[in-house]
Amino acid sequence: MMQPYKYCPYCTSILEEKLVEGHDRSTCTECGWINYRNPVPVVGCLVSNEEGELLLIKRALEPAKGSWALPGGFVELEESPLEAGGRELKEETGLDSQPGRLIGAYSQESELYGAVLIVGVEFIVSAYDLHPGDDAKEAKFFPIDEIPQIPFIAQRKLVKDYLNL
Ligand SMILES: [Zn+2]
Repeated sequence: MMQPYKYCPYCTSILEEKLVEGHDRSTCTECGWINYRNPVPVVGCLVSNEEGELLLIKRALEPAKGSWALPGGFVELEESPLEAGGRELKEETGLDSQPGRLIGAYSQESELYGAVLIVGVEFIVSAYDLHPGDDAKEAKFFPIDEIPQIPFIAQRKLVKDYLNL
């Protein structure tokens, strides 16, 4: 569970829990700053090859280190989710891509961030030479009936949505 903040990041006064817009929120007793907490945006990349196989990466980092999951990662402040997806895909698999369809968006609890909001985007690639890197140990296209269990429920929903399109 994410630790609540104790002090205001602006004026360093003590925070107290107050009911604001229907939620208990840490609120500054001096300047009134409210610690709104929202899911952190993440992009998940859905990529198929010519055989209709799905691209997954083996995670090199926690959470779920060593598990197969969708390529992707956090959306930086200056990026759109589409730009973030293209960048992460390149970093993790070496593939150049064009964004395709928006597949879906789901929230999921996260130990580190409280919750993440994963936006699933299809990416179209025309060359399939995989060069795993960054926080991916391996990258591989899986036939649909051999897709391993992905440890994140929101990603599993996105894969289902994508395969049902
Ligand atoms: Zn304050």
